[in-house]
Amino acid sequence: MQHSDMHASTMQAMVLDAPGKALRSTKIPVPKPGPGQILIKVAACGVCRTDLHIFDGELTHPKLPLVMGHEIVGYVEEMGPQVGQFSIGDRVGVPWLGWTDGTCPYCLAGRENLCDDPRFTGYDIDGGYAAFTVADHRYCFPIPDRYTDAEAAPLLCAGLIGYRSLKLAGGYPQRLGIYGFGAAAHIVAQVARARGSEVYAFTRPGDVKAQDFARSLGAVWAGASDEKPPKVLDAAIIFAPVGALIPAALQAVKKGGVVVSGGIHMSEIPAFSYDLLWEERVVRSVANLTRGDAEEFLALAPTIPVKTSVVEIPLTEANEALRRLREGELSGAAVLIPSH
Ligand SMILES: [Zn+2]
Ligand SMILES: [Zn+2]
Repeated sequence: MQHSDMHASTMQAMVLDAPGKALRSTKIPVPKPGPGQILIKVAACGVCRTDLHIFDGELTHPKLPLVMGHEIVGYVEEMGPQVGQFSIGDRVGVPWLGWTDGTCPYCLAGRENLCDDPRFTGYDIDGGYAAFTVADHRYCFPIPDRYTDAEAAPLLCAGLIGYRSLKLAGGYPQRLGIYGFGAAAHIVAQVARARGSEVYAFTRPGDVKAQDFARSLGAVWAGASDEKPPKVLDAAIIFAPVGALIPAALQAVKKGGVVVSGGIHMSEIPAFSYDLLWEERVVRSVANLTRGDAEEFLALAPTIPVKTSVVEIPLTEANEALRRLREGELSGAAVLIPSH
């Protein structure tokens, strides 16, 4: 086993004891890397809407107590046995997909995002709301040099899921609607625009700040989610966890158009007329990511270049970060910064 300078035996962490209960600021032992794992000194960890769904008990099987956080950027501090890549001090990113069995029919078919027995970072495995974390090195990625630690964090979920959603929306549709203009949208809008798509941004009614933010990132139109866009859309991606947006988006897309839901949880979808689905319109979800998505997107992002808009918040204020995300007070992505 190799390690750099000695680190303390305990670390700061924000721990979820039970859904709905504020995260507890505490000291817990620094984890030890097992076979194939690396110990990472966390430099930044993004706050994702999925964390809110875990916090609220809408995702029902978290490990408890749990350290949430699956947009982790940090530095390799120590290597467990059988780690075939990376060196001490390397900067790495850790996404939501933390482990797969490699043997189920989905893994064997190259669809590891649908693995029958997956483990997710910050859900089944302790994540990045802490000063250190361990991760299976096979699911970690080098981070492009262009980004600071905090700037890189939202690439690891908001960016990756946004990118996969865009692929499933048919690549680069001429007119792309995006419902919910937060962390994922602000990244995917830049990618789509750079590839020639027109972006139409839909926000909560009256959220002028989010609409201005969307326009500043090149959206040709921004309005309320209950408005009709000025032109019919080729495809739409929904990031807001609001089921009523499915029929709204179906109404806005053309014949054969695709509506992609990028979130892991959504409120109930209201009944709607078959007319909205008729003419080969498609509704589909995006689940998780593959490592291939991560490699593609992390290579693509700096070439565009995607710029991330981040709000840095001390790790110990994670509860406040979750509240601000819930209230829609953030333009871009909240990123937690531990002190070492
Ligand atoms: Zn599998
Ligand atoms: Zn996420």
